[in-house]
Amino acid sequence: PITVFWFRRDLRLEDNVGLYQALQSGYPVLPLFIFDEAILEHLPKDDARVTFIYESLSKINEKLAEFGSSLLVKKGKTQDVWHQLITEFEVKEVFFNKDYEPYAINRDQQITELLAQNGVKVQAFKDQVIFEEAEITKADGLPYTVYTPYKNKWLEKYKMIAPVAEHDTTVFSKNWLASSFVFPSLSAIGFETSTIKVKPHNLTKIANYHETRDFPALDTTSYLSPHLRFGTVSVRKLVNWAARKNDVFLSELIWREFFMQILYHFPKVVQHNFKSAYDGIQWRNDQADFQRWCSGNTGYPMVDAGIRELNATGYMHNRVRMVVASFLCKHLLLPWQWGEAYFAQKLLDYDLSANVGNWQWAAGTGCDAAPYFRVFNPDIQLQKFDAKGHYIRKWIPEFDLGYGVPMVEHAMARDRAIATYKAGILK
Ligand code: FAD
Repeated sequence: PITVFWFRRDLRLEDNVGLYQALQSGYPVLPLFIFDEAILEHLPKDDARVTFIYESLSKINEKLAEFGSSLLVKKGKTQDVWHQLITEFEVKEVFFNKDYEPYAINRDQQITELLAQNGVKVQAFKDQVIFEEAEITKADGLPYTVYTPYKNKWLEKYKMIAPVAEHDTTVFSKNWLASSFVFPSLSAIGFETSTIKVKPHNLTKIANYHETRDFPALDTTSYLSPHLRFGTVSVRKLVNWAARKNDVFLSELIWREFFMQILYHFPKVVQHNFKSAYDGIQWRNDQADFQRWCSGNTGYPMVDAGIRELNATGYMHNRVRMVVASFLCKHLLLPWQWGEAYFAQKLLDYDLSANVGNWQWAAGTGCDAAPYFRVFNPDIQLQKFDAKGHYIRKWIPEFDLGYGVPMVEHAMARDRAIATYKAGILK
């Protein structure tokens, strides 16, 4: 008899709550990862996130070898894989960490039912957040839809448990199932190694985060986002650290949880405006304009540099993401869903809750969003946040030769956006 620990977006052995519990189940633990065909079939063969997941699993597998164990890597439809596993092994219990995206919630419900029908006990744990959706609510039990009161409540609760407990899994290193499963090659999964790589995260420049974070050329943000997305770092470790080092940085980690609970409570935001009063906005739906935006050829250097950075590296600095997103929604009057979908394809840190939350923020359609009449001027943003042009020159080498003509004139686009929003918003 064995326990299975199912890795998903928690690709680490350290401070992994579900794993820590699994290792105390009383049965040897078989570690499992499933490449879910339902997700893979939508991705290009050289998807950089698949490469990152693969490399992270490989590191886990190397560590497991030190304990005489190995990772079982499967590929298929999750239902089919589980069917097969429970016939192949005498599985007594299955442990995993909770995932709050609609697809994952549905998948986990189905697998839990399947396992229960076969007499297998399932236990799911909170791991990827400090506080789950039901833990930070208003006095009447309803979810917060405005960030600042959410953050205040979050901090109040955190102070009561700080520093939040971390889980040392190494003390149970004898509890792994002895095994030597063959670790597949990436090509056996049907993928190729991407040339785009996830950067290691970097916390050495966070001390002055509140002063430096808005300047893309300074390279001082943490690059944590893909690591938080795939769980190669523990959020508890980070939050305990951030709480000692920099409040503004901590508040960014709280934004992450804010948008996660918004997605949980309001899953319609994936496709629909959080504020339905905005449903009447007449987007221009212009494909040619969208293509210029996607290729970084709008004629606005800050916008084009951002998109080119994204296309080349799978990353874009947060300040630039805001400018680029605002430009799509307001200057071009294209639906935020188009931009969201483009980011979803390209971002290494793509996370449904953060991406949708931030896109709706930029479009003005989200909870606690930027007001619709706030239209970033991309040139003023450039003067403020990249005054010496270091960032834009990195991504637009031809800049000094005289940069292209803006595809829309700012004053016209601003007036058009405000008028269109005004006419479309239901009173
Ligand atoms: P740091 O500045 O070092 O921040 C540390 C961590 O805080 C980040 O890794 C992230 O987990 C969290 N964080 C910071 N800002 C935000 C925010 N506004 N919302 C939610 N969490 C935040 N972030 C994603 O992780 N995935 C996305 O798909 C995503 N899409 C975005 C789309 C748009 C239009 C915008 C404006 C922002 C988006 N963000 C997204 C938020 C933010 O831009 C990135 O988290 C950040 O740039 C990642 O770089 P970093 O790790 O160096 O950030």
